[in-house]
Amino acid sequence: MSAFDDLILEIKACTLCPLSEGRTQAVPGEGSRTADIMFIGEGPGFYEDRDGRPFIGSAGKLLDEMLASIGLNREDVYVTNMVKCRPPQNRDPLPAETGACQPYLDRQLEIISPKVVATLGRFSFGKFFPGEAISKARGKPRRWRDLTVYPMYHPAAALHNPRLRPAIENDFRRLPSLIESASQAPEEPEQAAKDRQLSMFEQL
Ligand code: URA
Repeated sequence: MSAFDDLILEIKACTLCPLSEGRTQAVPGEGSRTADIMFIGEGPGFYEDRDGRPFIGSAGKLLDEMLASIGLNREDVYVTNMVKCRPPQNRDPLPAETGACQPYLDRQLEIISPKVVATLGRFSFGKFFPGEAISKARGKPRRWRDLTVYPMYHPAAALHNPRLRPAIENDFRRLPSLIESASQAPEEPEQAAKDRQLSMFEQL
């Protein structure tokens, strides 16, 4: 069994926070384990909790539509959430819940090692850039460590407020070229990484 399979089993059996008590099942994530792009939402809703798959309700249908508009489908990408278990009545996840779940997401990021992370909504955006407003940040790719983070509105936001839909459509349209350029971006050269470590030592 791979490290990724182990991780999925661990998530499914997780009892690290009280969300585990109310779930039908945990929703680890789904898609290609070698995806260049990972989408990170907020947390499972009713249908996701019932079926154990992310983004299969109405927000998921919009996500699929947007993916199709740029020639992608679920098998081409990886889709997961900040918290893997459904919060009661779909309330916002609490800091203690996102905190407990964070190591799972970090391990998913490490193993899949996507070139681009598209954050869907303010919770996943806040993991990388805490305290910033999504309305200002959306559609502008940023570097975060060796990742390109692309902040986007959550598809559910466009369902509640149809005026946001053109922004989501535009942001999706830019994704293919973003993935392309992120794939070509040189990784940090080994020597630069060593120099950086050395200078950290020198500061001690
Ligand atoms: N909303 C999310 O953020 N994630 C899902 O999986 C479904 C709806």
